[in-house]
Amino acid sequence: MWHYAPTTMTMLVTYAPEYLMQPHEPLSRRNFVTTTSLLAGGLLATSAAATEEVPLALDGGPKAVTISPPKRLRWGEPERQQLEAMLEQQSLMYWKGPQTAQMIERFQQFCPLEHVMTCSSGTAALHIAVMAAGIEVGDEVITSPITDMGTVIGVIYQQAVPVFADLLPHTYNLDPADVERRITPKTKAIIAVHLAGNPCDMQALRGLADKHSLVLIEDCCQGWGARYDGRPLGTHGHFACFSLQNSKLITCGDGGVVASSDPRFGPLLQPYGDKGFLRSGGDGLFHLFAPNYRMSEPQAAVAAGQLTRLEKISATRARLGNLLSDQLAGTPGIDLHQVRDEDRCVYWFYMLRLQPEAIPDRAKFVKALAAEGVPAAAGYIPVPLYGNPVFQDHAFFQGRWPVKELGLTTMDYTQVHCPEVDAILSTGVRVLVNETMNEEYVAQLSRAIRKVAQHMTS
Ligand SMILES: *Cc1c(COP(=O)(O)O)cnc(C)c1O
Repeated sequence: MWHYAPTTMTMLVTYAPEYLMQPHEPLSRRNFVTTTSLLAGGLLATSAAATEEVPLALDGGPKAVTISPPKRLRWGEPERQQLEAMLEQQSLMYWKGPQTAQMIERFQQFCPLEHVMTCSSGTAALHIAVMAAGIEVGDEVITSPITDMGTVIGVIYQQAVPVFADLLPHTYNLDPADVERRITPKTKAIIAVHLAGNPCDMQALRGLADKHSLVLIEDCCQGWGARYDGRPLGTHGHFACFSLQNSKLITCGDGGVVASSDPRFGPLLQPYGDKGFLRSGGDGLFHLFAPNYRMSEPQAAVAAGQLTRLEKISATRARLGNLLSDQLAGTPGIDLHQVRDEDRCVYWFYMLRLQPEAIPDRAKFVKALAAEGVPAAAGYIPVPLYGNPVFQDHAFFQGRWPVKELGLTTMDYTQVHCPEVDAILSTGVRVLVNETMNEEYVAQLSRAIRKVAQHMTS
């Protein structure tokens, strides 16, 4: 995501977590609002009245954000221990690898799924899921147009057809009603993207999947540690797919995990990530066709170390993102990132939306925030996935798209229209929340956002 972000955004990415690294009791949203209201309420009561008179930093006034979080240290002792143990090994191959075994054990401690395959990326995890789900040539897979390209790469490589549905205006996740409208006899699966680590409406999507016999794949790449109805993301559908790419909540540079407890699909994850080779109980012959998506032991060692940090990282982000929403409640001209009280959103980013009638100039809003000391960026991806040239030109394979030329689909991406998606991308403003921050800093962030919104609406 950082490709599209101005330099102000990268500033904060380097901040460090260590002083916030004490264990946090998970609190319910409501408890949390109560226990923090003293701190937040006090700061806000004074700021709300005062900010209107204080000039914007953009116009020479004082900056609203005066403190900065410490440097973000992403790895250290846990990763060093794993890597040192790894150097004693004779093999760095994932199969029977101690680092991989340790990584899978820690993965299952937070996401209790029976079959787990480590792999080279989130894109690989999703492709393995699509292959294991039995998606065939010309099948349709419904998903979100606001996501990483990796969500649909595997679908297209299998010669299946991504079908894009519209999103809900404030969760930025699939609108189940629009998903249902796009189900046809060719639909075989739904890929639910938990954008920014905010859980999709899994009850509704699972209901649709069950009713229409569809496979439900969860794209949890941005949702490490997030929970829907108290249970981890990845445990609500048939497949869980995670990314360990560098920008994600935890990382080993590049890597991924695909997991399933479904007895139809789980045993296929290993061979579909490993050239079709069944490593336990096979006859040594190839019965499946698949790419090599293996993750080696050095990545698994780092990932095993990173998993020891996951609960603190996700709990801290959830707490601070919710606090930001609580403190911004009632701010004129903006709509907040909507998260259910029953869920845990881990805020890979926090995205608010400007009400265009109230604040039409988004570029100025972001510039004013930057001047106040808030790292912010306009929008997210430049266009919905289907708006990219490769989709508009149907140019997936050397400029061509065999399934369309052969009449196996009538899909025309130039005709796809998702009005809410366009509105989200043209009014969204991303603010960074991460585990290096604390309540005091978030209080300053919210004061700055409120100050700018008040100025621009008055
Ligand atoms: C990052 C990401 C992917 C792809 O993961 P890679 O490891 O970069 O291949 C897929 N979906 C979403 C939602 C992502 O954020």
